[in-house]
Amino acid sequence: MSELTDLTAKAAIDAIAAGDLDATELFDACRAAAAADDLNAFTWVADQVPDLSGAAALPLRGVPLAVKDLFCTEGVPSQAGSKILEGYCPPYTATAVARLAEAGTSLLGKTNQDEFAMGSSNENSAYGPVQNPWDRSRVPGGSSGGSAAAVAAGHAPWALGTDTGGSIRQPAAHCGIVGLKPTYGSVSRYGMIAFASSLDQAGPFARTVEDVALLYSHMHGRDPRDATSVGRDDAIALPTADRLDGIRLGVPEDLTGEGIEPGVMAAFEAALETARGLGATVERVALPNAPYGLSAYYVIAPAEASSNLARFDGVRYGARAEADDLLSMYTKTRHDYFGPEVKRRILIGTYALSSGFYDAYYAGAQKARTLISRDFAAAFGGVDLIVTPTSPGIAFPLGAKTDDPLAMYLEDYFTVPISLAGIPALSLPCGLSEGMPVGLQLAGPAFSENRILAAAHALEGAFGFDSTPSRIGATA
Ligand code: GLN
Repeated sequence: MSELTDLTAKAAIDAIAAGDLDATELFDACRAAAAADDLNAFTWVADQVPDLSGAAALPLRGVPLAVKDLFCTEGVPSQAGSKILEGYCPPYTATAVARLAEAGTSLLGKTNQDEFAMGSSNENSAYGPVQNPWDRSRVPGGSSGGSAAAVAAGHAPWALGTDTGGSIRQPAAHCGIVGLKPTYGSVSRYGMIAFASSLDQAGPFARTVEDVALLYSHMHGRDPRDATSVGRDDAIALPTADRLDGIRLGVPEDLTGEGIEPGVMAAFEAALETARGLGATVERVALPNAPYGLSAYYVIAPAEASSNLARFDGVRYGARAEADDLLSMYTKTRHDYFGPEVKRRILIGTYALSSGFYDAYYAGAQKARTLISRDFAAAFGGVDLIVTPTSPGIAFPLGAKTDDPLAMYLEDYFTVPISLAGIPALSLPCGLSEGMPVGLQLAGPAFSENRILAAAHALEGAFGFDSTPSRIGATA
């Protein structure tokens, strides 16, 4: 990796502002790195350096941005990791991407992902799996695996992902970088190809907490095109805290123990010790309904997906199979162009919503969701932040879980309850297990991003986690 691609986004912005770095030169270095990427992290890379003459006056000064494939980008392939959208170039750009462009980022590339964001390993992409830059025989996590791998490998300073049940936090953890899932609704979903609309949320990936805060600070805000979007009352500040004095951290007693790899648990315990050393107190909190999160999520998300994916019928978007009549055309298109996990979710979702089963499955899952939200609200009466490992294990070998969907779904054990509650959470690399990164998840009440980012910043300084091994892995 060249020195330029080594820069954090903030360092690059400062250097451009000081006249020490030319934005075009930075873009060219990142474009060369992305074009040479051999992790399969990108599905499209900009073929030329854009005109960045005006960008130097903007807050983000032309710094290149990698964007998950499912964000619509005008005139640029937006395929959501699916064969059914192969070559699809939307006529408009997603609000989150447009806002970042207005703030001065430039589109470096689109990143690989699990098809329609369904997965935890990036192995459900129609465009092939992504390799983890720390160990190429392992998955990068998913569904935003391409964004996480690209940032970890130094091919992009920062990236956009989406998180429905863990898809920013888990790949960030597996690739040793920082990822934030913001409060549901704080970033517009307009132009994001929908998976589960009551859960989908866009957020940033970067190598530092500061860069994550900076990117998010230019993404959030009410958007009249997304009725579920809400404006924040506060601005997002660049975090500077280096202590945790007076901060009460809660460890859920219901979500720890069984099923967590010992190396992950050891890194988590060490992280708690570091937090205590910075002045935090650590106590147990009860989230009695959180263990039902996975079951509720894997009914609600497929139910919403079965409805959202009905639009892919061979008529309005993307691929169309040849057939003799209209009904056969619909069924053949969906049969031929959706991958197996997407079909599984559509079947589960349609079943859960069908008459006679709706109350037993969908309505029951919604009740569990309400109870989980109340658990978090009660827990935040006593603690400032809730902390868990981001994922029960380290990045696993490619192919290890592809034949066992339930084992794959367990990856989301710690992330999914937070998604159901709509609250924000960040994954921060806190150490290594078997040479692979371990993520610490910090969750707070709705709109507490500033609190989460401040605590993460203090911990980041104390952990001193070095993301360099990823780069050594990438070039070995
Ligand atoms: N792994 C989860 C799933 O497969 C979450 C995916 C996501 O957050 N998009 O649904």
